[in-house]
Amino acid sequence: MFTILLLLLFVNLSCSLENSEKYNSTDGILCRFCGSHLLSSDKITSKHSPTALYTVNDTLFNRNEVLVQLLSKDGFLQIPVITSSQSTCVGQEEWEEKEIWFPGYTWKPCFCPECGILIGWMFEHHNPKIVEAHDQFFGLILGNLISENFTNSLIKYPNSLL
Ligand SMILES: [Zn+2]
Repeated sequence: MFTILLLLLFVNLSCSLENSEKYNSTDGILCRFCGSHLLSSDKITSKHSPTALYTVNDTLFNRNEVLVQLLSKDGFLQIPVITSSQSTCVGQEEWEEKEIWFPGYTWKPCFCPECGILIGWMFEHHNPKIVEAHDQFFGLILGNLISENFTNSLIKYPNSLL
């Protein structure tokens, strides 16, 4: 009986260690449609939009407290979005001056460099008084992203085959 208790304790400890490791490592974030690498989870930011319909902090991409905002586009689309300081998605078209979601920022749509699907939007704050001063971030559609670690876990072989 004592041995079983010790064993259970050990298993429990190993699981806790595994979980704490899991949440500290950086995850890759991929395009859900083609697997192209878009950013690392350490580039996720928490840029609040004053027009968010709903916000929640979730554990995603091996990170705790990832800000997910439900943003409304064109009055009827409701899109869960995360923000990041970097992404390999490719901005197209001209900067749109009419603000959406983030006051003071112009924006343009941003597409997957491999398959061309809409990944989100790039936002840029222009200060006309200072030529170099612009800060940029990305709003990424959560539903179009997938975790690299999760994808890798799907293609692991069962122990019985090794
Ligand atoms: Zn893609």
